[in-house]
Amino acid sequence: MYHTGADQWVEIDAEAIIQNLREVKSILKEQVRLIAVVKANAYGHGAAGTASILESQGVDFFAVTYLQEALKLRKTGIRSEIMLLSPLSREEQVTEAVNHDITLTLSSTYDAQILNRVSSECGRTVRAHLKIETGLGRFGMGLQEALEVCQMLAQNPFIKLEGIYTHMAEAVSVRCSQEQFKLFSATIDQLAANGYNFPLQHCANSAVGVLYPHMQMDAVRSGTLLAGQYPAGVHGDMKLKDPFKFKCRVISLKTLKRGSTIGYYQTYRLRDDAQIAVIPAGYIDGLALEVGNQPAGLVDLLKIVLKIILAYIGVHRFSKTVIISGKTYPIRGKVFMQMALVEIPESEAIAIGDQVEVTVRKTLVEESIPRLFYYNDRVISEEELDPGTAALIMGGREYA
Ligand SMILES: *Cc1c(COP(=O)(O)O)cnc(C)c1O
Repeated sequence: MYHTGADQWVEIDAEAIIQNLREVKSILKEQVRLIAVVKANAYGHGAAGTASILESQGVDFFAVTYLQEALKLRKTGIRSEIMLLSPLSREEQVTEAVNHDITLTLSSTYDAQILNRVSSECGRTVRAHLKIETGLGRFGMGLQEALEVCQMLAQNPFIKLEGIYTHMAEAVSVRCSQEQFKLFSATIDQLAANGYNFPLQHCANSAVGVLYPHMQMDAVRSGTLLAGQYPAGVHGDMKLKDPFKFKCRVISLKTLKRGSTIGYYQTYRLRDDAQIAVIPAGYIDGLALEVGNQPAGLVDLLKIVLKIILAYIGVHRFSKTVIISGKTYPIRGKVFMQMALVEIPESEAIAIGDQVEVTVRKTLVEESIPRLFYYNDRVISEEELDPGTAALIMGGREYA
């Protein structure tokens, strides 16, 4: 058994990642490229390890949000195209990106001017995608600004405008997506009428790619599906598998009498004598963190209230639980910043050091917590994993 010596770690099922990749590819129409989105540490799974596996299995295009994320992938040995989904606003950043062959997003005249200046100094060809604003209000330009940017960059032999894209605000809404798609398409047509053409036109994230195949255009940018989940409100018959398991060890154990209260504000009172295990996972690890969204209507509100009531009266499925040696136990009391308390019946044989599986928000698990990648019977730490190693172990036939 692999042992990092850590009390917290994440286990990633490499076969699940490969399976998810196969499933995503199965819904792409012919000639549609996959842009694998591995931002935010590959949605918590470990960007270096995940991208290495994906590249070994033939993925040749990645996207991340920030420059540091892209540079980390290059350091890991990722040779595929890597695109930034946000613009760079400082010259030093652009220089570094160009020198590492990172594909840029141009969202305004402001960042286009920087690239225009810097690329000539670097003397290297740089690929860029224009970002068009169609309703999200984040990054992107309208038709007029896009025309100006195209005009300005047309004289620059170092800049290759490889793509044009936009991002949807509410994929599950057909009306909203159709509207944005129409505006995007019209913008592309107008630019074409002025002589500006882009080989890679894309607007689909996971949800859009699944829901509206005609919007797949030339490429689909997918992260959520590769992470083994359908986006909220989207269903289908792909066999997706969550590769992620957060594990930790029991670090303290005591027996308390019936009637004892536990946790801050003493919110829970034991109904029997019980063992209380302390586990090193708290809300900073993404345990029991609820996003404070406004309920989406009266029905939603009632659902939330009902769940809280069911958890309160002790219906297991509605309280936060953990798994120890294959059995499910409830978390009691308020979750601490870095710890939580688990109630275990007195009769059960639990020991300090036992492994605990905890459900957490994957994206909140710190990058410093080790990711261990499992493939068949092998365990590979993320540091040991690069595309070549992944190909060797996982049989990346498509990896040249
Ligand atoms: C995060 C992101 C994606 C990927 O979205 P998923 O729903 O996870 O597939 C695609 N495009 C942009 C611009 C993004 O920021």
